[in-house]
Amino acid sequence: QPRMTVRSVSSQQKSTVTTSVDEILTNLQKQCATPLPVLRHVADSMANDMRAGLAFDGGSDLKMILSYVDSLPTGNEKGLFYALDLGGTNFRVMRVQLGGIDQRVIATEAEQVSIPQELMFGTSEELFDFIASGLAKFAEKESGKYHLLEGTKRELGFTFSFPVKQTSIDSGILMKWTKGFAVSGTPGKDVVACLNEAMKRLGLDMQVSALVNDAVGTLAGAKYWDNDVMVAVILGTGTNACYVERMDAIPKQPTQTAHSGTTIINTEWGAFSTGLPLTEFDKQMDAESINPGEQIFEKTISGMYLGEIVRRVILRMAEAGSLFGNSIPEKLQTPFSIGTPHICAMQQDTSNSLDTVGSILFNEAGVESKTGARQIVMEVCDTISKRGGRLAGAGIVGILQKMEEDTKGLIFGKRTVVAMDGGLYENYPQYKNYLHNSVTEILGQKLSENIVIEHSKDGSGIGAALLAAANSKYKHTF
Ligand code: BGC
Ligand code: MG
Repeated sequence: QPRMTVRSVSSQQKSTVTTSVDEILTNLQKQCATPLPVLRHVADSMANDMRAGLAFDGGSDLKMILSYVDSLPTGNEKGLFYALDLGGTNFRVMRVQLGGIDQRVIATEAEQVSIPQELMFGTSEELFDFIASGLAKFAEKESGKYHLLEGTKRELGFTFSFPVKQTSIDSGILMKWTKGFAVSGTPGKDVVACLNEAMKRLGLDMQVSALVNDAVGTLAGAKYWDNDVMVAVILGTGTNACYVERMDAIPKQPTQTAHSGTTIINTEWGAFSTGLPLTEFDKQMDAESINPGEQIFEKTISGMYLGEIVRRVILRMAEAGSLFGNSIPEKLQTPFSIGTPHICAMQQDTSNSLDTVGSILFNEAGVESKTGARQIVMEVCDTISKRGGRLAGAGIVGILQKMEEDTKGLIFGKRTVVAMDGGLYENYPQYKNYLHNSVTEILGQKLSENIVIEHSKDGSGIGAALLAAANSKYKHTF
């Protein structure tokens, strides 16, 4: 193996590093490239896989799950509703007082609790006891601003951000965990029953009226304010998308029960895998993950993984090309020591000597770095966030394309809103720009004119509460 060092050229010139590191970078950029034909291919494949998944269960990587949400909130809903959101790293509880068509949301309060690491590897009972007790503590603090309509009980919208085979609007079976969860005993079970049992153990009297995926909750929440919302996308720890589908376009569900003629389909696009530009780093990360072979799109574009891909690349650069001199600190060798928030923060560094990059590399990976090495690290971050953002954009175009093909002119011919949520989209400006540019690049100026991609903050929490209201067990009261 050639021995390489970081060379500082004169202070006026850019520092530079020797070939091996450059080779790794060049190769990485080549393999991660997403020129227009690649984006188009991904968009087309997404549309095809959607159709195949709608044709029959198991028809493609995309599960295309029926949400059983066929009554969307109208604005008429009244009363007090709770929401519980179990997602990636946190769970949130929320209450909402709805005042009907004129007043809409009268009051709302929320609390967030981070999920202790050990609960992600514990038993189902432990996890559900923890979230039910968080809910109970929150419910105890209900103030006089909130009140139930006469003759009703506290109802709950449960946002559960994992692949669930819905069996009705208020029940569904966990198919598998994602995002690093490995809780034993839950897959194959009805998660509403799990929550109900935990609430019962605590003596907490609440009724789950809607079980929804976070993407579905986001769509419902955003559509409550803006009827042109047709698609919702989550880009956070994990990723997913859902959209409004016509019942008669779902061959695998021939019985048409939805009165509106439409329903929301949860694509579970994190499992998509066709035509993605992957590298050896992606493949190794996947092989060493707790769900190898699964969630490949998610592993390429979502927040849980972008930092880890970068870490793997710079570890290789350190080993093969002495990017940081001779030392390979243990921290740099530790999976997930560099997170997506770190690579995002590094990309915001505009100082000449890249001081923030230097201190993040030191604090998180234990390496001392010169400016040249920091520049390389910046390039790696940019390469990985660019690929992620652009592929996410291609996925969105795939969904819009599929919808347009079925309903000529109804997507590109009028205003169509894609509601976005999740920390990655919200907090990573470069990623977000890459995503937006990719959509415009694929669609062209004219078609993208009517497409509005906008952030819908905390849509899924309020969305779940609204869906609990729209599917209230006490519907007759309003
Ligand atoms: C899950 C989806 C979820 C998404 C975003 C994925 O890992 O499979 O159900 O919507 O993360 O939270
Ligand atoms: Mg979430």
